[in-house]
Amino acid sequence: MSDEKQHASGDVEAGDTSKRVGMEAIRERGVDPEELREKLIDAVGAEFTTYYYYTNLRMHLAGHEDYKEITEDARLEDRAHFELVAPRIYELGGHLPNDIRDFADRASCPDAELPVPMGGDEPDHVEDLDAESILEVLLEAERCAIRTWSEVCDMTQGKDPRTYDMAQRILQEEVEHEAWFIELLSMERDGEINPAGHFIRGEPGDAPYSTNRRINDSA
Ligand code: ZN
Ligand code: FE
Repeated sequence: MSDEKQHASGDVEAGDTSKRVGMEAIRERGVDPEELREKLIDAVGAEFTTYYYYTNLRMHLAGHEDYKEITEDARLEDRAHFELVAPRIYELGGHLPNDIRDFADRASCPDAELPVPMGGDEPDHVEDLDAESILEVLLEAERCAIRTWSEVCDMTQGKDPRTYDMAQRILQEEVEHEAWFIELLSMERDGEINPAGHFIRGEPGDAPYSTNRRINDSA
């Protein structure tokens, strides 16, 4: 008899699609699923806008082919972070904003815009742009991402294993991204050797920890 099975029923009525046991289970453990999902929307808003802005930053690193390659890895991995977490928002009863302008506005990190020189012209008037100032934008964007995903880890650790698993995967890559840009900026700006400890990905934007595919594949 199914009644005798410990987890066969609970507070959500059988067949009720207006509630989610996946939300109630984390609420019982002390996470507010509505608050969490709104924070996740802000966080993936930052991943998505960073992916967009890094496209433009990378374009403007002409002549620094090594910097372009590393920025490309960071760019594609931020897109992977968006894609990893987007389904989680729906599982928590939320949805992506219909208007991309709303989505960009609520992103939890600043826009990683081209650093237009003081007194400079429009961003497409860029002859005064240098690699140093672009690397500073990249570095601070990574730091904002580390702070964001660290907060999500803190909110979910021991309470929401699924979100925690995603956030810690992303955090691993964001910490690597920071190390890459510290290394590049240290040499470019200060002539200092400040090793990242690791090299660029084998495939562009490999996302070794965070791709959806790798979660589902054991290969
Ligand atoms: Zn990211
Ligand atoms: Fe990143």
